[in-house]
Amino acid sequence: MTRIVFTAMPAAGHVNPSAPLIRELVRRKLSVTCYATEEFRDQLTATGADFRPYPADAITSEDIATATREGSPLRVVARVLTATERLVPFLQQELRRDPADAIAYDSNAVWGRMAATDAGLPTISLMTTMLAGAESMRGMALREWLQFIKLALPDLPGVVGARGRVVKQFGDLFPPSPVFPMRGDLTIFPIPRWLQLPDPRIDDSCHYVGPTFDPAVRTSVADPELAALLAGSEPLIMVSLGTLHAGSDEFFRSCFAALGDLPARVVLSVGRHTDPARLGTPPSNTLVRASVPQFEVLARADLFVTHGGMNSVLEGLRHAVPLVIIPQQFEQLVIGRAVAERGAGVVLRQNLSGRPVPPEALRSAVDQVRSDSAHAAAARTIADGLGQEGGAAAAAELIDRFLAERSASRAG
Ligand code: UDP
Repeated sequence: MTRIVFTAMPAAGHVNPSAPLIRELVRRKLSVTCYATEEFRDQLTATGADFRPYPADAITSEDIATATREGSPLRVVARVLTATERLVPFLQQELRRDPADAIAYDSNAVWGRMAATDAGLPTISLMTTMLAGAESMRGMALREWLQFIKLALPDLPGVVGARGRVVKQFGDLFPPSPVFPMRGDLTIFPIPRWLQLPDPRIDDSCHYVGPTFDPAVRTSVADPELAALLAGSEPLIMVSLGTLHAGSDEFFRSCFAALGDLPARVVLSVGRHTDPARLGTPPSNTLVRASVPQFEVLARADLFVTHGGMNSVLEGLRHAVPLVIIPQQFEQLVIGRAVAERGAGVVLRQNLSGRPVPPEALRSAVDQVRSDSAHAAAARTIADGLGQEGGAAAAAELIDRFLAERSASRAG
């Protein structure tokens, strides 16, 4: 039986699109072992794969969220590199004990790639977002650049130091620059092709299979207050800035001010770092939670205020929900602009240049999207096309074929 080892980036936005693909591989009788943090044990075990935890002190979703919240994307890179020092020896040992035929790694889980290089194994990269290069950056305004540089500069020494330590410890096992995001011998993007701008890094190894939603998996809404709210009849607005960024208290209070008097139900998912009590009493139409079963809520939503994370955007569009996108980082702007160009939403860019979104601007964007049915119609058109590239089944087919070719060339 062919054995694949999957090394995850322990964050919901990375594990969520990977899990349906792993389920599909297991269904095809491949033996899959998933390495991730305990947080994702149940989700990954439910795919039928074997689960093995990363050492508890290596890296957690909390570490990634803290680096994202308190620094720039460079701080996340530094944190990933620090984890690499711990995880490469761990995986080397695991693979010696239990050899694999291929490594599938999250495109940020550099430890998986390095362990594969060390063992001479074929590699499969799971991308989870598009490549964002020079073509994408053209859309950035000067003040957005300045804000990015202001945030990134203090994090630069940390990345250089962490990279230096990894290179010193592992030498040539460290991939050549630019390291992130890492492609593989086979590279799978669980996103639609239209979300990818031209990029010189796209080569024959790259395949866009569309989102990998798994219709078999449904999270029930256990929270009685949320279930009651979802059973209502007024239009439903979902608000979330994802699992890593966590909006400021000021942003969530702006949501109270902007949406509180609408004849609508509002679900505000504020993340683990915002104590709902700190925000004060929400308006009577608003339910505040640290986290909600987002896919389920979106199934009933009429509008989604989102940071523009790849998964959130695709989950919204999957349910034909038009979007108000408030990017927290550059990549989300690229996603937001692609959606807006197709008419399925509008983008509010203030955060990218370090400014808060005024409640009036949020209200006006929400009114605009709700009042013009063209947005919902465009979201419906996108939803209807989302399955066309084959999703998890197409990805598993590509992996099967890739492994068969590799084993044939080894045998020949
Ligand atoms: N999510 C969720 N409940 C919440 C907020 C988010 O289940 O209250 C899930 C969401 O469905 C998505 C993932 O977390 O699958 C977030 O991924 P995304 O790429 O949108 O953003 P990130 O958190 O990586 O910035």
